[in-house]
Amino acid sequence: MQLQTCRRHPSAGRFMATCSGCAQELYDIEQANRARAEADLSAKVRTALGLPGYPPAEGDGETARRVGMWSQYELSAVFERVGGTVTTRTVQRLASTGSTWEATEITVTVDLPGIGTVEVFTDWDEESGGRDLPLIQAIPDVELIAA
Ligand SMILES: [Zn+2]
Repeated sequence: MQLQTCRRHPSAGRFMATCSGCAQELYDIEQANRARAEADLSAKVRTALGLPGYPPAEGDGETARRVGMWSQYELSAVFERVGGTVTTRTVQRLASTGSTWEATEITVTVDLPGIGTVEVFTDWDEESGGRDLPLIQAIPDVELIAA
């Protein structure tokens, strides 16, 4: 088989079937398209939830379809706006000091028109109170960990 060189990527060297420079370009374009689609979806989701348009904080477990809230008050406000199903689970959180603690993560799962399933979540904070919030009233029998 004849080795080829790419006119656009002469520095990629000779190859049998695929120029590594072209392959990299295609990969970069796909990555950029995916990132743009994620950003568009994230903006759509946040608008539909009535939230300001921040990009997802991946370190906090956020994605375009998974949005973290600061507190149960904010989460309850979203729940009152868009409805959905409230669930909880026990999670382990890691402090910057390296110690861990258990918390109750509260999640509102909602099917947004034209977008699909989205999760909005926060950890229950006992000190902030709010057991009378509509969000917490939707899960009356759940034991909330006093994190
Ligand atoms: Zn090439």
